[in-house]
Amino acid sequence: MPEEKLSKIVSLCRRRGFIFGGSEIYGGLSSIWDYGPLGAIVKKRIKDIWWNEYVEKREDIVGLDSAIIMHQDVFVASGHLEGFVDFLLDCPQCKKRERLDKLEKIDKVTYRCSNCGFCIDTSKYRPRKFNLMLKTNISATEDQPQIAYLRPETAQGIFTNFINVINTTHKKLPFGIAQIGKAFRNEVTGGNFIFRMKEFEQMEIEYFTKPEEAEKFYHWWVEGRYNFYIDKVGIKKENLRLRQHSKDELAHYVRACTDVEYNFPFGWSELEGIADRGDYDLTRHSQVSKKDFYYYDDQTGKKFIPYVIEPSAGVDRTFFAVICDAYTEEIVKGRVRVVLKIHPRLAPYKVAIFPLLKNKPQLVELAKKIFYDIKDKMAAVYDDTAAIGKLYRRQDEIGTPFCVTVDVESLSDRKVTVRDRDSMVQQRVEIDRVYEYLRERLELT
Ligand code: ATP
Repeated sequence: MPEEKLSKIVSLCRRRGFIFGGSEIYGGLSSIWDYGPLGAIVKKRIKDIWWNEYVEKREDIVGLDSAIIMHQDVFVASGHLEGFVDFLLDCPQCKKRERLDKLEKIDKVTYRCSNCGFCIDTSKYRPRKFNLMLKTNISATEDQPQIAYLRPETAQGIFTNFINVINTTHKKLPFGIAQIGKAFRNEVTGGNFIFRMKEFEQMEIEYFTKPEEAEKFYHWWVEGRYNFYIDKVGIKKENLRLRQHSKDELAHYVRACTDVEYNFPFGWSELEGIADRGDYDLTRHSQVSKKDFYYYDDQTGKKFIPYVIEPSAGVDRTFFAVICDAYTEEIVKGRVRVVLKIHPRLAPYKVAIFPLLKNKPQLVELAKKIFYDIKDKMAAVYDDTAAIGKLYRRQDEIGTPFCVTVDVESLSDRKVTVRDRDSMVQQRVEIDRVYEYLRERLELT
């Protein structure tokens, strides 16, 4: 059943233009995906909501847009070059390749294959080490390469610009730097659609605090980020949970970490991690770059390296959770109705406008006029390429909250039929009031 739900979601995403396979016409690339016309809109809406909430509305957080390609010393300092590795184990029986940390451990050396159940003795079948960083050559010549890396997280661009931001914005602690952007990881175990990609997008904040205040802000961010998914993104509370990491899951410098998890069709999995990272990152960059990362507190006269709280969210995983959460099947008059009950704030279009009969020029003209009157004020779409039943089905599947139909009577009574996506209730509304009617209802949600 869960697998069936996942394959229905994948099929809807492809059919309706949310997600396509990357380089598909050439056979595709594993774990690389493209966002189609509707996917691109929803993805942008997710990023806009986050940016608006944390950068535009707040005085204590500033934005940044740093480069994807970074100097290799950045990753010497961050520890990625040495430690950003996955241990992979190939099952000798069924050949499935999996991450060691995701397998059931039977005893000190034995792990169970999740596919065929075979007990793999790692003293005999050795796990192999893979660095997840994507390397590139930024020199003009192949014979004298200058190696650089595609960032595996947006965070490092924030740390490397810490001094620049302080010097230009004069921010005082506590303050944050926020960034949305692409990150790259050579993930060797893919699957589960867009959950684990080689190229993906993150929304990260590094929130710098005085050491003694770090714990307080850590709890504040964990709660705030959990509520964000419910209040701003519209995800159902019962499908979200917080999971605190146990001590043995934490890197030595991480003081605490909590994941926000979503109940995907394949089980509870991470949407975001919120970590209290102490002063590790700034200290490491200060040691490797030999630059001064100290913060001067002019009230106490003390100099110290700030602590940092890092809420690190995935745009693609949020997108995936939004679609899974909204996907609904209902039986209407003995037939299955597929409807994406997405929050209107995220819906690609707020309203779709159709003529009931496309061979009646007066209806087409009136429907187009209503569409052109609305489209600059609210995301709208006009469609007359199918019969009305099919047009409704299309809009239900892409989550359009309202459909407006112009029929023959509209020409005389100057009213149209407005249909609500979720209740399917239809109401006659005066043409001159349609926009107001929609706006009022969309504001209510
Ligand atoms: P996982 O354990 O699932 O690999 P992670 O703990 O390594 O994830 P982080 O390094 O904490 O992930 O990255 C922060 C966020 O970035 C994740 O919560 C996730 O939303 C997103 N993310 C990380 N890796 C990927 C990926 N390969 N594809 C899509 N999103 C990702």
